[in-house]
Amino acid sequence: MRPPSSHRLAATLLLAGALVAGSGCGTAKSSPPGSIPADPAPSDSGLGGDGPPAATPAESRTMISVHVFDAAGELVGPISMPQVERSDQQWRELLSEEQFRVLRSSGTERPFCGALLDNKKAGVYTCAGCGLPLFASNAKFESGTGWPSFFQPIAPGNVAERTDRSHGMVRTEVNCARCDGHLGHAFDDGPRPTGLRFCLNSESLAFTDAEHLADLADPAASASPRDAKQAADAPGETRTAVFAGGCFWCVEAVFEELEGVVEAVSGYSGGDAATADYEAVCSGDTGHAEAVRIEYEPAKITFEDLLRVHLATHDPTTLNRQGADVGPQYRSAVFYADEDERARAERVLAEAAESGAFRGPIVTTLEPLGAFYPAEPYHQNYVCLNPNQGYVRSVAWPKIKKVREKFAEKLKQESPLER
Ligand SMILES: [Zn+2]
Repeated sequence: MRPPSSHRLAATLLLAGALVAGSGCGTAKSSPPGSIPADPAPSDSGLGGDGPPAATPAESRTMISVHVFDAAGELVGPISMPQVERSDQQWRELLSEEQFRVLRSSGTERPFCGALLDNKKAGVYTCAGCGLPLFASNAKFESGTGWPSFFQPIAPGNVAERTDRSHGMVRTEVNCARCDGHLGHAFDDGPRPTGLRFCLNSESLAFTDAEHLADLADPAASASPRDAKQAADAPGETRTAVFAGGCFWCVEAVFEELEGVVEAVSGYSGGDAATADYEAVCSGDTGHAEAVRIEYEPAKITFEDLLRVHLATHDPTTLNRQGADVGPQYRSAVFYADEDERARAERVLAEAAESGAFRGPIVTTLEPLGAFYPAEPYHQNYVCLNPNQGYVRSVAWPKIKKVREKFAEKLKQESPLER
């Protein structure tokens, strides 16, 4: 939900036209796209600002589920809204000639020509047709191909993919999920963490500086689906997150230290109810991981912060292993409850991979949360009840020390272990 803090704040909008207008390479423009709604369609009408009327009434249009920015410059969602549908004539009125050729006729701009190719500023790339947020600068990389390249979309639902068999090739075409505008193609030769390369046309994108994301506020962001989410952020309201990262005694103890964490419970996730017991899980072939369910108050600590603490207090680079504990039951994992949580976890993992703080690739898995099964009572509060046990002393306490040192500002006033 929350992009890195540098992506917040407010101010003015940098429209596509301002950047694209500088484009060379003979891609003459008929006029700057000043009338393009960066402020996308209100969900009730599908219209953007003063644009021409939509070709199809809202009620008969396909619904999509996307992430958009709210008035605080925060990416929120998923939010349900209708696709934007306009006639070619209406698009021609909104777009420059070159934008129309790329977005509406699946054209490709010449390589090394696009105005956004070398843009290294922090911010967000939106659809030049409808304003939907598509890619963030922290997923942009230098591919050497001559087109702006990204390793992942800003949210999975915001881009649509389809097979493109034109020009005697089989490629994956990438389109804007809201207006179906052609953006470019996706290839599987990208960098970590996704291995994907979204190869895009500058002409299909508009860039907004990180400090001006509030200008991208979508009217739909304040509509009903988000109100429920906001209500959940009210003081006292709680949510749960499920993480795995080796021995659950240790993971549980680490999270109990954090202000905003109401309770951490040791248990099992990834397998069936029939095998959700310690003896079976120890065999390593139940699909379960030793996991911890963290009940937290989003008003006090975010999902992102929880995951950052998790990554800092176990080793997310060792596959199916934490120190001497070896086997898939000790894997590093995030069990996500919904697509929103998955997208947020993906962003934190990408941020961690970029940070250079880890010795090797992060192998933390993102797995849909089927169910969480609390472990046997003797595994609960284990560190608190057995502070001098050998394993606890050698493995758990160093992790607790780490969270106290690295996240001092996020700790409870009094540690549950010291009571
Ligand atoms: Zn679009």
